Amino acid sequence: MHRHTAHPLTLVILGLALGVCSVILGAAPSNRQTDVLPTSQGELRLMPIYHGSVMLEFAGKVIHIDPWSQGDYTGLPPADLIVVTHTHRDHLDMAMIDTLKKPDTIIVGTPATIQTANCAPACGQVETVADSETKTVMGIEIEGVPMYNLVQGSRPGMPYHHKGVGSGYVLHFGDTSVYFAGDTECVPEIKALEDIDVAFVPMNPPRTMSTTEAAACVKAFRPTIVYAYHYRGSDTQAFAAALKDTPGVEVRLRKLEGES
Ligand code: ZN
Ligand code: ZN
Repeated sequence: MHRHTAHPLTLVILGLALGVCSVILGAAPSNRQTDVLPTSQGELRLMPIYHGSVMLEFAGKVIHIDPWSQGDYTGLPPADLIVVTHTHRDHLDMAMIDTLKKPDTIIVGTPATIQTANCAPACGQVETVADSETKTVMGIEIEGVPMYNLVQGSRPGMPYHHKGVGSGYVLHFGDTSVYFAGDTECVPEIKALEDIDVAFVPMNPPRTMSTTEAAACVKAFRPTIVYAYHYRGSDTQAFAAALKDTPGVEVRLRKLEGES
């Protein structure tokens, strides 16, 4: 038997050629990376995109969380489900929602978020899920978790995020739970969370937590996997270092703020 194997030099040349091609074609550099998790109901694919934006794929459905047009959505599929945590423009971006929306796409948000979107009837199908409420949408159980500032605000009595501006959400994919905290400090409702498999935790003070506060918060509710997201200007390595010796918690860092 004679087997053809590519000479290593051939592979190098091919790699260089592809690299040159991507430059010539002007392909946008993207740090997108998909992580695959097994669940009791099949694979869950997670792709953090940019800042607070994440795409999930599960059971043939595409779910976009807080899609923001600052992210690179080139080549990504449209949404079956769009989940919006709150009304700020880096989370509720109607232009991006319009781009990703299909006629039967369902949009999930708190009553305040949906009202601010002010897109009825153009929104199409909408489901409101408020703080501490649970609804099943498209076979996925979605639970609202309060998100708000405890101390940070533009002035006393004016928090950057008041309670009710939106909700973080826990999405249940079979037996696997994925939590998107939205913009929040480490409020008691987060510390009380249990059985979170994957958590996305924000860290860009003063609007959300510092890396130190975020790490302490993670130690309180102990997700199995935690992604730093919404971290503009923060040193995520410091977050990872603060959790280095925390058993049972795996920190995942992705480039989500336009770093090359
Ligand atoms: Zn916000
Ligand atoms: Zn934000």
